[in-house]
Amino acid sequence: VIVAKDVHKWYASNKFHVLRGVSLTVNKGEVVVVMGPSGSGKSTFIRTFNALEDYQKGTITIDGIELSHDLKNIDAIRREVGMVFQQFNLFPHLSVLQNVTLAPIWVRRKKKAEAEAIAMQLLEKVGILEQAKKFPGQLSGGQQQRVAIARALAMQPKIMLFDEPTSALDPEMVREVLDTMRSLAKEGMTMVCVTHEVGFAREVADRVVLMADGLLVEEATPKEFFNNPQHERSKQFLSQIL
Ligand code: ATP
Ligand code: MG
Repeated sequence: VIVAKDVHKWYASNKFHVLRGVSLTVNKGEVVVVMGPSGSGKSTFIRTFNALEDYQKGTITIDGIELSHDLKNIDAIRREVGMVFQQFNLFPHLSVLQNVTLAPIWVRRKKKAEAEAIAMQLLEKVGILEQAKKFPGQLSGGQQQRVAIARALAMQPKIMLFDEPTSALDPEMVREVLDTMRSLAKEGMTMVCVTHEVGFAREVADRVVLMADGLLVEEATPKEFFNNPQHERSKQFLSQIL
């Protein structure tokens, strides 16, 4: 469960107020899709959930653990929350298997054999078991992104954050990544996904939120959001992507 209340962030350097009081609750097992124009603060907002970004005002609690600015709870938070990025961010010099077992071995202190057994299960789940010995550079973008998902899952997070996981992919690879995300959602994973994949949002999301100019301007079921958006800003945004 994520509870974000009135989160503000600004950059002192140029006085840019990137988050201007954003509140959002994501309950256990829910899938929330975040949409909105470029620069509206989507990445910044979801990155606050695992302390990749600090913020100046407001509160965020993850499964009851309050995110503190002194990073006191950072290990506890990062254990709860996994993240998948647009640019995969795999370690290029490590094999697929090593990418997935690295953190469980070094952070979770798991035995190598145990970490590898879990990794193989996860690679099977995301459909790339046969690629385990390859290096990221030998895989397609869609396969690399599925490695990234397996790597995040290897830490057994309770919540998964996705920041435009398919927007760096060729169209034919998008589907395999969305299918992986869809099956995660079906298993009851709590997910926050920044994505402009309307089909995915319609089918999988419990709620869609629209961010614009550092504010959350609309929060609705996918049906309401896509068929009958309430806010001018949402209508404008949808007219660009639909
Ligand atoms: P996109 O759809 O392009 O990914 P986004 O909604 O994820 O956009 P963010 O990446 O959260 O947007 O960025 C929000 C704003 O914060 C942008 O306008 C960006 O220029 C600004 N910003 C990011 N980092 C800094 C910084 N270090 N100093 C000043 N402004 C910054
Ligand atoms: Mg972004």
